[in-house]
Amino acid sequence: MARWGMVIDLRSCVGCHACTVACATEWDVPAGQARTHVHATPVVGTFPALQSSVFVAQCNHCDRPPCVSACPSGATSQGADGIVRIDRAVCIGCGFCVDACPYDARYLNPKDRKVDKCDFCAARLERGQEPACVATCTAHAKHFGDLEDSQGAVARMVYEQGAGRIESTAAAVGPNVYYAGKPSQLELVHATFQPRASRMPMAGTVWGRLLMPLMLTVVGATFAGQAVAFFNQLRTGEQDFED
Ligand code: SF4
Repeated sequence: MARWGMVIDLRSCVGCHACTVACATEWDVPAGQARTHVHATPVVGTFPALQSSVFVAQCNHCDRPPCVSACPSGATSQGADGIVRIDRAVCIGCGFCVDACPYDARYLNPKDRKVDKCDFCAARLERGQEPACVATCTAHAKHFGDLEDSQGAVARMVYEQGAGRIESTAAAVGPNVYYAGKPSQLELVHATFQPRASRMPMAGTVWGRLLMPLMLTVVGATFAGQAVAFFNQLRTGEQDFED
């Protein structure tokens, strides 16, 4: 089975946002949210030797994904193909995985209160198509393929041509989106974008976001059941009285 990964070539990316638009259209991403983000580094250097870079960030389908361990319902899982998926039918919208992701790659969809993120366009892969962002990239900066296929373009960019991961001392979780580029570009992107430490749910958060709503639902359902039983009894009593 393939182990999917992506390489983004910083030398080619022109920051046109075509990938973000293609992704949003494909997956009906709500306004103000995105599964893939285009960032720009600050301009550095002294005129005329100025430098800046654009780079794309998204879910990295990490080797050790903290979002999976943070998920209390089992909605987030990682397949043998490396893709970290969300089962929307099982997601309870607690947002623990959103806090746990060091790359802020997840968001809570305000329409249905379920978490969403890039899944490497798993449904398109099943149909033999590339992810929408890769197919749409005007500059051919995004490369997608099997990291275990040593003859494949993506594996060669990673293992032979030095495409690297963006990690930090706070978060070393083995991302599988890699970046290729000039050393100075990679340095600049590293300096600009440091994945944060994963925030795992604390007792107070578990109570506020999970246990209390659950308790209120149970109490509400019990109360509603008792109310229905009470009114049924009243109705039966009235009928007996009329008879
Ligand atoms: Fe999970 Fe974030 Fe890693 Fe994606 S980038 S697998 S959401 S921790």
